[in-house]
Amino acid sequence: MSARDPLVVSDNLTKHFPMAGGHQVHALDGVSLQIHEQEIVGLVGESGSGKSTYGKTLIGLHHKTAGTVTYRGEQLPQRYRAADFQHYARRMQMIFQDPYSSLNPRMTVGEIVGEGLKLHSKLSNQQIRDRVGDWLQRVGLEPDHMSRYPHEFSGGQRQRIGVARALILEPEFVVCDEPISALDVSVQAQVVNLLDELKKSMGLTLLFIAHDLSMVRYVSDRMAVMYLGTVVEVGPANQVFFEPRHPYTEVLVGSNPEPDPEAERHRASTTITGEIPSPVDVPAGCRFANRCPKVMDVCRSETPALIPLVDAADRDVACHLYQQA
Ligand code: SF4
Repeated sequence: MSARDPLVVSDNLTKHFPMAGGHQVHALDGVSLQIHEQEIVGLVGESGSGKSTYGKTLIGLHHKTAGTVTYRGEQLPQRYRAADFQHYARRMQMIFQDPYSSLNPRMTVGEIVGEGLKLHSKLSNQQIRDRVGDWLQRVGLEPDHMSRYPHEFSGGQRQRIGVARALILEPEFVVCDEPISALDVSVQAQVVNLLDELKKSMGLTLLFIAHDLSMVRYVSDRMAVMYLGTVVEVGPANQVFFEPRHPYTEVLVGSNPEPDPEAERHRASTTITGEIPSPVDVPAGCRFANRCPKVMDVCRSETPALIPLVDAADRDVACHLYQQA
């Protein structure tokens, strides 16, 4: 398999959560996305757009309402059983958003980081301890930290523990679910740089979920923009950030200051107004129509498909502005 072959493919992936009264939360509606081997795909959008649900559904933490996920061409189960987690855990892992709540406070760091090896390998306790010590060093901690508890560490250190826990099984694909958003700005770049280094040294493929577009642009090869459970734009990260085509991407980028002053000069500043519609009562037509400064009549009745742009390679946009020719 070459670096350009898709490692993970979601096709029409849909996740609805049932509610009282027969209603459904449309968390994901028909997301089709390819993630290539050794690629970092950034997934952005406001909270409530379905980013985390997508990541969790992709690796089986939620069962799928409809659609498929294939991994190296093999279709993954619609609903994982315990044996499936056992089978796929060595290939796919997740780094969670909140390093405060995602680490069990009653377990030592050694138990937390070594748990996956205990469950999914035949290594002896001493071999697991050695491997944990190596991984703590690899993420910038000390081997003797393994006897301590999570509350003894800072937020950045806890996220390093989360990184070691996810990567000790040496997976091929990792979903990083807002791995830096709970951290101080001063340590966000350290964790991003650590992930970038490990990605390069291990040949990892990453789905990097975040709402900070400038950080996603910095770390990602491609960027996908989600709005109310759908992907509205996808393409090379720099192009999507500096030349957004979908009106939602334009306002999302415009409302996200760029820390690099040179890059900031090239960014159009805008603000996003109005509320994201309820995922329980999804509007007909384009889901962004009630907030879109370029809305047309057709937008309120017909759903735009995600299609390739005719004037730019590797870029797909779901907007009637590009579908009328
Ligand atoms: Fe705006 Fe219409 Fe495009 Fe939706 S389809 S983003 S409402 S122009």
